[in-house]
Amino acid sequence: MKVLTVVGARPQFIKAAPVGDALAAAEGVEHVLVHTGQHFDQSMSDVFFEELSIAKPDVRLNINGGSHGQMTGQMIEALEEVIVEATPDWVLVYGDTNSTLAAAIAASKLSGVRLAHVEAGLRSFNRAMPEEVNRVVTDHLSHLCLTPTATADHNLQAEGIDGTLVVRTGDVMFDAVLRFGALAERRSTVLEEAGVQDGGFVLATVHRAENTDDPRRLRAVIGGLRSLATDVPVVLPMHPRTARAAEQAEMNLDGLIILPPVGYLDMLALERAAQMVVTDSGGVQKEAFFQRRRCVTLRTETEWVELVDLGWNSLVPPVTDAEDVAAGLRAALDSDEGDEATPYGDGDAARRVVDALVQS
Ligand code: UDP
Repeated sequence: MKVLTVVGARPQFIKAAPVGDALAAAEGVEHVLVHTGQHFDQSMSDVFFEELSIAKPDVRLNINGGSHGQMTGQMIEALEEVIVEATPDWVLVYGDTNSTLAAAIAASKLSGVRLAHVEAGLRSFNRAMPEEVNRVVTDHLSHLCLTPTATADHNLQAEGIDGTLVVRTGDVMFDAVLRFGALAERRSTVLEEAGVQDGGFVLATVHRAENTDDPRRLRAVIGGLRSLATDVPVVLPMHPRTARAAEQAEMNLDGLIILPPVGYLDMLALERAAQMVVTDSGGVQKEAFFQRRRCVTLRTETEWVELVDLGWNSLVPPVTDAEDVAAGLRAALDSDEGDEATPYGDGDAARRVVDALVQS
């Protein structure tokens, strides 16, 4: 069996790490790794390959920038050629990026190739998010929808996707946290570098277009974090898109501990040591829970509804002003921990992904 994996963005490198290991451990499986280049520099790409010991990509397309249409179009064209050349049995994609959508479209028009989607079935029910469009289309083109949660199964069923195409594997990001958590604790020196104490700071990340591309929302987020920082140190590893937007809008970042994007091990160490996590990232919401940290999500909705239901996560949409955001953050900081549960499986999702590919 030959599997061709397409990755392109930071969260996909992390998801692909445990699955890549499970593919390598499976007998008779040949694996080709394609990197579209959507994220490309040291801090957004290379560091993850190094830290998570991911095999070097067999193919690098170096496609990034431009509009959604330009980027996706170029990727479809290039990926079609790569898939035709490699003749895989499966094209394997992750999550909701333009790289995922492009691979799904390219694969679905080629005969003899099937498409498998890891993290299928997630929905925000907000079609204004490019990620939502990408994941809906990808799910409907997939021959195998590999889901992290019961909620995801239900979402696919509600859209009429044939249940025989759906396999619940659990969340491969849980596998990654279990595998790399101890290494992070041994290796990371990020707390000293940031000048914060274990348990004595709030960790924040912001990168979603709905927050960065709207100066009013970004101002509410940054202002809310700066207000909170008068009570407790706030560490903010800055996504390049956020750094660009903040600079363009000449935003005042005084009072925040700003870091460049950090590697995965540093991120796990920061999440584990934080009093609370504030984010608009999907992956970071879950990682906070995996390490049993409370989390505030700076959005109107979340795909990871289990976290809200269990009381670990609260939604604080930055739709009004900084003081409202700050009030939401302070309330969350004072709130109790959530309930114990394991909605994301048992940390063996990567093996189940590979089993499903072999058996389908
Ligand atoms: N992450 C990281 N360094 C950072 C910020 C995030 O390693 O400075 C990791 C984080 O631990 C998680 C993943 O990137 O595993 C989440 O990716 P991102 O927030 O970019 O995307 P999303 O999960 O929202 O799709």
